[in-house]
Amino acid sequence: MENTFETIRQILSSPLWGIAWKVFLVSLGVLWLALVFWTLKDARRRIDDVLIVIVSVATSLVFPFIGTLVYMMLRPSEYLIDARERELEMLAVEQELIALRICPNCHEPVREEYVACPKCRRPLREPCVQCGRPLEYWWKLCPYCGHDVAVKPDTSLTSSAGRTRPTASSSDAAVSESTQLLQF
Ligand SMILES: [Zn+2]
Ligand SMILES: [Zn+2]
Repeated sequence: MENTFETIRQILSSPLWGIAWKVFLVSLGVLWLALVFWTLKDARRRIDDVLIVIVSVATSLVFPFIGTLVYMMLRPSEYLIDARERELEMLAVEQELIALRICPNCHEPVREEYVACPKCRRPLREPCVQCGRPLEYWWKLCPYCGHDVAVKPDTSLTSSAGRTRPTASSSDAAVSESTQLLQF
C-alpha cells in the first residue's frame, strides 16, 4: 500500500507530469476563449439587441464554460434571418387576404385588380381610359395617372348629376342611378 502512494507521489513530482498539466490548462484556456468567440458569433445571428449580445459574451467570458452553457439554454431558438423571413411570409399572406374581395353578385372571391367577376360576369370596376388600371366607382380621379374621371370629354353623354364617366356602361349607369337614389 505504501508503495502505491510512493509511486503516485513520484509521478506527480516528475517534470513530465508538470508539462502534461500545463498543456491541459492551456487547452482549457483555448477552449474557453473559443467558446467566448462562438457565443459572440451565435448571439449576433440570433439577438437583435446589441446590449443583450454584450451581456451574453460577458457572461461567457466571466464564467468559463458555465456562462456559455447558460447562454445556450436561454438563447432565442431561431436565427434573426429566419424570423424576418417568417415575418415577411406572414405579411405576404395577410396582403393576399386583403387583396381578395367578394363578388357582390355571386359571392365568389375576386382579386383587388379584377375588373369583372370571372364567374358571373358582373362588372366590378372600370379601367382608367388613360392608363387602363382598374378604378373604384367612387373615385373622382385616377390615382395612378391623375386622369380626372369626373370630367367628360363627350358632352352628349353628360347626365344631370354630372358624375358620369367618359366611357358609360350599363354598370356605370346602375351606379349613377344608385347615387341619385341616395341623394334623394
Ligand atoms: Zn360574381
Ligand atoms: Zn389612370
